[in-house]
Amino acid sequence: MEPMRCDVLVLGGGPAGAVTAALLARDGVDVTVLERARFPRFHLGESLSPAAAGVLDELGLRDAVDGRYLRKHGVALRCARTGRQQRFRYDEAYEPGAALAWQVPRADFDDLLLRAARSFGAEVVEGCAAEDVLFDDGAAAGVIARREDGRQVTVRARLVVDATGQHALLAGRRGDRHPVDGMERTALSAHFRNVARAGGEAEGDLELILFPHGWIWNIPFLGEVSSVGALCANNWMRSRQPAEALETFFDRTVDDASFARDALASSTRLTPVLAHAGLSWRANRRVGDGWITVGDAGGFADPLLCAGTTLAIGGAARAAAAVRGALDRGDLSARSFADYARTLDAASDLFLGTARSLYAEELSEVLLGAGARADRRAFASVLAGDVFGDDPPWRAAWRERFPADR
Ligand SMILES: Cc1cc2nc3c(=O)[nH]c(=O)nc-3n(C[C@H](O)[C@H](O)[C@H](O)COP(=O)(O)OP(=O)(O)OC[C@H]3O[C@@H](n4cnc5c(N)ncnc54)[C@H](O)[C@@H]3O)c2cc1C
Repeated sequence: MEPMRCDVLVLGGGPAGAVTAALLARDGVDVTVLERARFPRFHLGESLSPAAAGVLDELGLRDAVDGRYLRKHGVALRCARTGRQQRFRYDEAYEPGAALAWQVPRADFDDLLLRAARSFGAEVVEGCAAEDVLFDDGAAAGVIARREDGRQVTVRARLVVDATGQHALLAGRRGDRHPVDGMERTALSAHFRNVARAGGEAEGDLELILFPHGWIWNIPFLGEVSSVGALCANNWMRSRQPAEALETFFDRTVDDASFARDALASSTRLTPVLAHAGLSWRANRRVGDGWITVGDAGGFADPLLCAGTTLAIGGAARAAAAVRGALDRGDLSARSFADYARTLDAASDLFLGTARSLYAEELSEVLLGAGARADRRAFASVLAGDVFGDDPPWRAAWRERFPADR
């Protein structure tokens, strides 16, 4: 059978892939997206940062999103060990322009983005999994994929964008998937009805609770449902009894965090508890000849600071710009994507350094104590996803104080 052909082939239709495809298709680029699943499909990563707002504006989606999801104006950071807590509002950030984000059930949100990509003219094929990447003279030139009915298809492209999330097709194929030292944890998560939440403008805050086994998230959605999860150190996970149901172990885990125990006291669990392990990894290369990675497919350190969707959606906007430039120049080699890779590496490192220092308590002590105003502003800026591009002074200082590699 004749191979399908396109200029840009995006693998994966999550936020990274859908936004990259939407922005390129909007500009008249011939884009095809292959998505393994059929949308809508469940996904974790339900708390956006304001970095997404500007990109949603660019896609004309802000009103659709704003009417559909709970507004999030900030983050409540609490420590179960000391009982201390602080609220960080996005408008405390150094660039308070986009001081708004949303809490999004991902099945619905991802479907919205993928439909947007289609409406801009991207060819979207759901139920089609990329299995291998084809290379011509060392440059990516397409993929072999398999449809749900078992049929194999070949798609040829000038550029392959790997947006396959944690599946990370290219990093896996290249043997370039390396654990991030000190960040090995396992997540437990479920959706609940009637979890206690703040009132007024703070209703949509993301609640982050630091506790002895790791940290807990509480993400309220519009209505009565919330997503609650715990990211646990693996030595705590090993304390699970052989016959202990995950649900029982989850209850036992959150019971060790006073804030979470209280918030969940009158709640009902709506879904089974899911476990997600092996989340943290990094690749030595995000781009190569004829290929780039976007979102989790380029590496993932830790979900603590909403880094995932910030890097996926904010990164997709930068990826689309880099791809447009490369197509205009007719140079799809790694050289064309070097700036994009540097920007994403620096943004990821900023998140990683911040997460490490929160775990090590050096930063949480500062933030939960009296705290200098400059520290609050810098932390609010990281939470707001102001992580891309040349470093303003606050970012350079933060990076030096809380390095990613230690
Ligand atoms: C426990 C946990 C909690 C998190 N919480 C948050 C949070 O609150 N806020 C936040 O910002 N981030 C959070 N994240 C991170 C967030 O989930 C991801 O960073 C985000 O989904 C990345 O988007 P993506 O588009 O890169 O990948 P994904 O959203 O995973 O999308 C990848 C898509 O590729 C498809 N795919 C995979 N393999 C193939 C293939 N071979 N061929 C075709 N398609 C394929 C998949 O079906 C999927 O639809 C969390 C992550 C975890 C693990």
